[in-house]
Amino acid sequence: MQIVVLAGGVGGARFLRGVLAAAPGADVTVVVNTGDDVTMHGLRICPDLDTVMYTLGNGIDEERGWGRRGESWTVKNELAAYGAEPTWFGLGDRDLATHLVRTRMLDAGYPLSEVTAALSTRWQPGVRLLPMSDQRVETHVVVADPETGRPQAIHFQEWWVRHRASLEASAFVQVGVDRARPAPGVVEALTGADAVLLAPSNPVVSIGTVLGVPGIREALRGTAGRVVGVSPIVGGEVVRGMADRCLPVVGVEVSAEGVGRHYGARSDGGLLDAWLVQTGDGASVPGVDVRPVPLLMSSPETTEALARAALDAAVEGPRPPHPSHAQGGPRDGAGGR
Ligand code: GDP
Ligand code: CA
Repeated sequence: MQIVVLAGGVGGARFLRGVLAAAPGADVTVVVNTGDDVTMHGLRICPDLDTVMYTLGNGIDEERGWGRRGESWTVKNELAAYGAEPTWFGLGDRDLATHLVRTRMLDAGYPLSEVTAALSTRWQPGVRLLPMSDQRVETHVVVADPETGRPQAIHFQEWWVRHRASLEASAFVQVGVDRARPAPGVVEALTGADAVLLAPSNPVVSIGTVLGVPGIREALRGTAGRVVGVSPIVGGEVVRGMADRCLPVVGVEVSAEGVGRHYGARSDGGLLDAWLVQTGDGASVPGVDVRPVPLLMSSPETTEALARAALDAAVEGPRPPHPSHAQGGPRDGAGGR
């Protein structure tokens, strides 16, 4: 079974652990948001790719959800002692090695997709890890300058990490996205997938950015498999992080229904065949098979069960134009059972 997952960082990485547990024999490709990428201290940093790589490669700091386990911060403190900006971004000593290797390879002319493959040889994430694009795309956030009140665009990382998303945002701009192309393998993977899963990642700055790369949305809509999304909103709140600061900026209600409608039904020009929402969260998304399931990835077992529910929704259930297919759809071992 060929599974493609669209993912951001922490929410995406946790969900992927569940997918690998639920479908051990499957061939899993992950298309990761690179809109959070940034250059700092001369190093190219890809936060979401690294979160997925470290999580699946068993190198993640579980508590923080990002960065390396057993991290130390000597270089960060030394840089701060020089007054070298930015001082607000957490760059651990172990993590730095990744950025050094990546930057050196990029400077030598390798595309990000090849660099990511090279880094993955060490981490063996058990999936094919693809950046959404080899072209540089960087999300910026339009905020009011605290002094002048005039609109000003700052890098997403500055808004998210430095200001903890506290500055009122009026827009997100994916700088470079218009000229970006899907990384090699992305379109082919989507087209040939048996199942495409939208991880419970940030719908605006993770999944939204991936879908903004020209060609990805079209490939996803054209997939032969079913497209299943998982809500990152539970009981009207984000489970973790600050996605609730992002959704209103694009006019989307912070609810499972709001996000489901934002993605929309595939039969109606949108993306979804099925949408998983938290048990008890009512959501009506016309044209979409809405399934209430437990959405919290609080243990390996609940995470695996969530992934299994997503895969079940991908291989069974009503296909909108032919409701007669609803009962007892084929089970092709997606759950490895
Ligand atoms: P980031 O790039 O590290 O911010 O991470 P993502 O974009 O991949 O994921 C962030 C989203 O994951 C947030 O909106 C959270 O609400 C969501 N999330 C985190 N943990 C869980 C969970 O256990 N269940 C669900 N359904 N969503 C979660
Ligand atoms: Ca991210």
